[in-house]
Amino acid sequence: MTEDAIAQTHTCTRCAQESLLSVVGRCATCIADMGLRHPDEYQVWKADLNAEFGRR
Ligand SMILES: [Zn+2]
Repeated sequence: MTEDAIAQTHTCTRCAQESLLSVVGRCATCIADMGLRHPDEYQVWKADLNAEFGRR
């Protein structure tokens, strides 16, 4: 097992920061920011989330 496999980061598609925790391409910071201040972007993210997991 390599260190890369343990500490795999994902680059956020919104802020381009690397993050250990991301959901459908957005990091946790962006998700919180969208939820608080950018409802339009949040709806887009939720649509992507639903498409990814195929629910509702
Ligand atoms: Zn981000």
